[in-house]
Parts: sequence; structure tokens; C-alpha cells
Amino acid sequence: MVGDSKPEDDEDWMKYANSGFGSTDYSLWDDVEEPENEPEQLDEPEQLESHTEEIPRAPSPAGLKHLVRMGTCDSCLGRLGGKRSFQQTNESSGIQIRDSISEGNQRLLKIREEIPLCPFCENLFEEADLLADVIADALQGYAIEKLQIGARFPKDQVEGEEALRKRFAAGGSDALKPSLVGLISGKLSERLSGVSIVNDKPDILALIDVLTLTVTLDVRSAYIYGRYKKHERGIPQTRWPCRACKGRGCEKCNQTGQQYPSSVQDLIGNPLIEFFEGREHAFHGMGREDIDVRCLGRGRPFVLEIKEPKRWNIDYDTAMKEINERANGSIEITDVRRSNRSEVVRVKDTPAEKSYTIRFVIEPLTQPELDVLTAPLDLTKEDVQQRGRGRRKHRRRGDRKDNPKKPLERVEVSILDESELKKLKKAELVELCTERGCSEKGVKADLIANLLATNPEPVETLPLPDEATILGIIEKLEGVNLAQRTPERVAHRRADLVRRRKVIETRDASVESDDTGVIAVEFTLRCESGTYVKETVHGDDGRTQPSIASLIKAKCTVEWLDVGDIHAD
Ligand SMILES: [Zn+2]
Ligand SMILES: [Zn+2]
Repeated sequence: MVGDSKPEDDEDWMKYANSGFGSTDYSLWDDVEEPENEPEQLDEPEQLESHTEEIPRAPSPAGLKHLVRMGTCDSCLGRLGGKRSFQQTNESSGIQIRDSISEGNQRLLKIREEIPLCPFCENLFEEADLLADVIADALQGYAIEKLQIGARFPKDQVEGEEALRKRFAAGGSDALKPSLVGLISGKLSERLSGVSIVNDKPDILALIDVLTLTVTLDVRSAYIYGRYKKHERGIPQTRWPCRACKGRGCEKCNQTGQQYPSSVQDLIGNPLIEFFEGREHAFHGMGREDIDVRCLGRGRPFVLEIKEPKRWNIDYDTAMKEINERANGSIEITDVRRSNRSEVVRVKDTPAEKSYTIRFVIEPLTQPELDVLTAPLDLTKEDVQQRGRGRRKHRRRGDRKDNPKKPLERVEVSILDESELKKLKKAELVELCTERGCSEKGVKADLIANLLATNPEPVETLPLPDEATILGIIEKLEGVNLAQRTPERVAHRRADLVRRRKVIETRDASVESDDTGVIAVEFTLRCESGTYVKETVHGDDGRTQPSIASLIKAKCTVEWLDVGDIHAD
């Protein structure tokens, strides 16, 4: 569908979305599970020489002293030393450890002048203030409420740190990434008032690249729920790119790139873009009606998505009034409120029953036309598995080549007119004789006689049903299970299958005939989600069975259809 967001869009980002403190951390390069709280060192001890004593891990004094000797920074010393007290920062715990372990040893106190690069973090913790600054600057102009911080690390850095940590750090020490993210989050939550730092479903995910010390913002969409009524026909639900230029803009579409000047999506989304200061919108409706179908009753539920907004919350009543005013009666929205991404799935997947009011006219039908409407459906493509049934028995006559897309063909022979034939040259008559399979011997008059003999017998039409029959059949349609093969008009977006759909209720049927003898029928029906309603009436050349046309044995032409109600929410 046009303008729909693809659910996959967010999936890649979800990989980073867990990189907050206190949760498993992932990055582009790193999906290694981190075993936490490993009780004992399982790796072989480091053996430089056979007499080298094994270095114990922190928090033993010898282990801590080794961490200091390695050039570990204060933040990592606190993080890995296993001495941090409740609510103490890693850095202050690290300073404490360094002071007590060094015992005045000047070389140890100044070891970082000798080894300036911390082997655990490559001095990243010293950049925490800078990174918090960069993020705070990037967030200028956004009315953000929920912020998530993520970080991407080169895989070898993560693996290197992990190996060192397992070897020397106290068991259960925090990993590098969540520690850094936690530190920066703490600094930001002090600075940004009204913003909470979250681990899930943020308004913006700020993703730190530790190699370049830069930040990328993943700005999440804003969502708004409502119901719309469509009072006018001729408005498509979603934007529809111009067929001639595919949306680039051409003379045919007045350079708009759109097939139709407006859509329900635009009428709702364009004002909302201004409210949210977003870039574009996508429309998610609970089903859709055709362009020529009105949508009445309580209206159709929808979720509108605003991409790359500057805010995630607005005054919904004001927005609703603005939208309804600008739409000028063509559409109307109600029940507007804040929504979210998961509601998109709910709205799209809710199989709601719907009520429709439909009006059609009836005309006489011939027996061959009725045969088409009632020819056995090809059930080899039914959407329920039908094992063990004779396939051939059910094959449609028109589908000899097993091509289910091919419609059942009506063999129509044109009727030749004597006076028209007389105007033709002999050569043309001979050609026509070959075409119609009759003898081409003789003079012109013989050929004309032969040709006229190929005219089909005049076919009598079936009598039109009377009012009581029509009303009785509409009444009996209630509770009927329809078999509906995908109509050709939607074949480009739906699989060619035979689906079973139930007519739940029929009511308010009326029949009227005018002076010229045209009989018009109107009634309301409620049916299962996904029922092709127009096809239920006209029969779609036998693709929908039974149909009103096949039951009343008359040709039914739909004049209009309204969605009366969507029985959901
Ligand atoms: Zn460090
Ligand atoms: Zn165009």
C-alpha cells in the first residue's frame, strides 16, 4: 500500500536499542553473549615463565595492584575493582582504590603518566562529558520526552576488553558498553529537564559511535489514532501516485504526482505534519474502502504515523477541529488520541465485521450467462487445505490449461447482418466464410446465405424475478457462506485464492421500479472481514458463489455502496 511504513525499518535499530545500562548490549559488530557473574576463572593462567606466580583477580589486593600497574583509568578501576559502594560512582571508587593500593608509592600514583592509555576503555570514560554535550546539542529543537542512549563499538575492542576483564577484574564487573552508556545517561538526565532516559520505545535513540565520537539520532515516528468518516465518493483512502509519471509530477497530474487531488490520508496527515513538525506521513487503516465507496456510521479506525517529528504529543482536540475544518465536509474525524507503533499492528490485523448499504439495478439474463454465474468454482486454490478431493472434478470449464488466472470465457459469436454483408466485396466475404467455418463456394448470394446460416439462434432471456422473490432471496442470504475467488480488480495485490466469507445479517431490503421498467434494489448487509461486497451482488462472472445475481437469475449492476459501520473498537 502506498505510504505504508515497513515494519523492517525499525528492526535494525532494535539491535542497538538494548544497549542501555542494565541490559544486554549489542552493536553492529558484537553479538557475543556476555556470561555474567562467572564464578571462577576457567581460562588457563597466564604463564610467561614457569616460575611466574599467577596473578589473582580483583578484588584481592594483588589483583587491584595489578590493575593499577596496567595503567587502568579511575573509572575502569572502580568498575572492575569490586570495591564500589552503593551509589558511589566508578570514578570515585577508582580514586579510592588507587590511593589505598599505592600506599604513597609515587610511581604507582603517577603510573598513568607512564601508561596514558587505559587498556580497558582506551580512555573513553574521559570523553563522557564531551559525548553528553554532543547529544544535548543534537537534541536542540526536539520536544523530546523519552531518550535512549546506545553505543556502537568495534567488535575487536569489545572482545579485547572482555578478555582482559575476565582475566583480571572482579567477578560480576560491568561490561564496558553499558557502563559508558550509563555514565552518559546519568549526565544527560541531570541536564535535560522533562526527559526520561529509557531502555525501550524512546522518542529518539541517540547512537554514539565511539571511534569517531559522534552521535546519530534515530528519530522515531509519532502516532495518532482516530476514526474517519468519508462523506464524499471519489476520494481514495491513501495517496495514490499518478499512473503516468509514477509520482514524479507531469502535465496529467498538474505536477502533483498524485492520481487524485486528495486522499483521506492527505486530508488527515497534511495538517498533522504541521502540528508535529514532521517530514511525511503514513496511513494505517482498519481495512479500506474503494474510492467510490463512502464510509459512514461511526467511521473507520486508523492510525496515522508522522515520520521524523519534532514533538510526540500535541493538543489532539485542536488538531481534530483543524482537520475537520480544512476537509470542508468531505471527511470527518473523531475519537482522536495519542497512539503508538504497536497499535498500528492491532488496527491493521483486527478482522472487523462490517455493515454496508448497497444499491443495484437488475436486468434480464440469458441461460448461458446464468451458467457462467453458477459454473463450478475451481477449488484447487481454496485457502483451506482440501486434500483428497478430486481436483479434476472441480476444475472449471474455462481453466483447461490449469491457469487459474484465466477467467471463464464466454464464447460470443457476433450476429451478421444481411444488408451489411451485401456491402462487402467477394474477397471479403470469402475471408469471412473461412473465419466462420462455412463453405466459400458459389456466387456472392450463396456466400451471404452460408454466412447468415452461421448466426447463433436467438437466445431467450430468463424472466425477471418479482419483488417477493427478490426480497425472499435477500432474506435467505443471511447466514450463507460465500465462496469468493479473488476478483481480477484486486488480483495485483492479493493472491488468487478462493476464500470463504459469511454473510452475517441482511436487512432493510427494498425494491422499486420506475416507469421505464428499471428495477432497483437496496439493502444493508453485515459480513465478515474481507468479504467482497459488490461481488456478492453481481457474482463476478461466477467467481463469487452464491451471488444475488445467481440466486435471482438476473443481471445485477451495482450503482453505489456505502460502508455503514465497522464493528470494532
Ligand atoms: Zn578505562
Ligand atoms: Zn503525473
